[in-house]
Amino acid sequence: MKTYVVLWFLYSSVTCRTIFWEESAPSVQSVREFLTRYGYLPEREKGIDFTYTKQAIKEGVRKMQTFAGLPATGEIDKETIKLFRRKRCGVKDILPNNKSHRNKRYILQQGWDKKTITYSVLNGSSTLEKSRVEAIMEAGLAVWAPHGGLTFLRHDAKPDIQVSFVSRDHGDGFPFDGPGRVVAHAFPPPHGAMHFDDDEFWGDNPDEEDDDVTDFFAVAVHEIGHALGLSHSNVKASVMYPYYQVPVEKLHEDDILGMQELYSSINNEHSAEESEETTEAVQSRSSLVPRFTKADSDEDDIPDLCFTNYDTIQVIQGKIFVFEEEWMWVLSDRKMILEGYPKRFHDVFIGLPKYIGVIKTIYEKRNGHIVIFWSRSYWEFSSRFRLIKRGRITEYLIPQHVAELTSVFISDYNNKTYLIEDERFWRFDEEPRLMDKGYPKEMSAWRKVPYPVDAAIVWKGDTFFFRGPRFWRFDDRLVQAHEYYPLPTAQIWFPCDPTPEMSRYITNDEP
Ligand SMILES: [Zn+2]
Ligand SMILES: [Zn+2]
Repeated sequence: MKTYVVLWFLYSSVTCRTIFWEESAPSVQSVREFLTRYGYLPEREKGIDFTYTKQAIKEGVRKMQTFAGLPATGEIDKETIKLFRRKRCGVKDILPNNKSHRNKRYILQQGWDKKTITYSVLNGSSTLEKSRVEAIMEAGLAVWAPHGGLTFLRHDAKPDIQVSFVSRDHGDGFPFDGPGRVVAHAFPPPHGAMHFDDDEFWGDNPDEEDDDVTDFFAVAVHEIGHALGLSHSNVKASVMYPYYQVPVEKLHEDDILGMQELYSSINNEHSAEESEETTEAVQSRSSLVPRFTKADSDEDDIPDLCFTNYDTIQVIQGKIFVFEEEWMWVLSDRKMILEGYPKRFHDVFIGLPKYIGVIKTIYEKRNGHIVIFWSRSYWEFSSRFRLIKRGRITEYLIPQHVAELTSVFISDYNNKTYLIEDERFWRFDEEPRLMDKGYPKEMSAWRKVPYPVDAAIVWKGDTFFFRGPRFWRFDDRLVQAHEYYPLPTAQIWFPCDPTPEMSRYITNDEP
């Protein structure tokens, strides 16, 4: 019992309160509970009067949709309702980042500090014999072992990882919810307990068509990831995606990168050459990843630059790069599209993994290299657009709980690199690689600039922010947007005719 109490304090990131759904659309309360449970809304603290505004809930829904890979509408549409009801892991998607949780976060994010890890299976489920569970668990551990250089040994006395089937309230403060929805949760090192909800009908055949049957192997591989220290990933094809999906056959590059991030330091003495990875190795690894095939789109599918939002805009080699869906445009100056564009960005950035379907975060380093961020990873290209290396955003000293960066730019004002995540930003010195003190700061520190921003650029000495169809010019000295902004992006940056709606944009309302 004592252990459970300790676990409860350490791991408030796993919450399992029962949520009741109505027949059709979920109630406001159940939406709010889902969002707080998985970290999309801050948790109410005892004794503090705190209400969630409509806007906060909408923003939470938007974040949840983004993480799941749905269009971020902020609306509770059909697809979103499906997600609320889908089987999933009980661990939070977004880990708390407020200061009082700092120590907790650190504990949540470490790997094991050894390479031989013991485990034990306490019991079988009502539908799966213990021996079958053991066999599947062994197969699941074998999926992860090579990527951390780990060895797993079955050891029933004081195992590092203990696997058990439990139901409802089972003593750790995170009761399961009966059949459906939350199917399992696991605790990170140094405890590594894995709990599977015994109210699920556990099966061992991933081809089983029955929706009521939950594939034990698929869930076990995911929970092992947590027991090894990984958090949830917003990469849909990854094993660490929080929603249940079958079949699980192998790890995604994102899972592998996460493992390397956690275990590379303890492996260093054995394979120092591994850090000197060549582009070739990077590419052969990404070829493990299932390619998502898209029907060849014809001209009609190219978005109209004048009537669209933009995934992002960046200044690279003194030119304006615009990204939308799989396409990119390059402009030599405002309104001057270079010949041959739009092109598919995959035809330009050679070596970028094919599963990256959009470019939302990109910047040019002082040395001319171009860096594309996606999820918690980055890919760095030469000035001739050849892949040089890839890595994780932790190399920019971004905390482990940040799921992705939304914009990155180097300020002309102080030469520092600004790393933006939705509502917060960090200020980073690339030489030497140091984070400035006092960061992250809230985006609201940049007065009259909306957030989250889609793009932040420096063009001819001025800083500009883009969001939706509009942009703002920033006064670095006054730390606020200039008067007379926002203005419509299309008519000012791209060769688009002014429209009667133009005046509509000259307001500070939301886009
Ligand atoms: Zn999980
Ligand atoms: Zn539990």
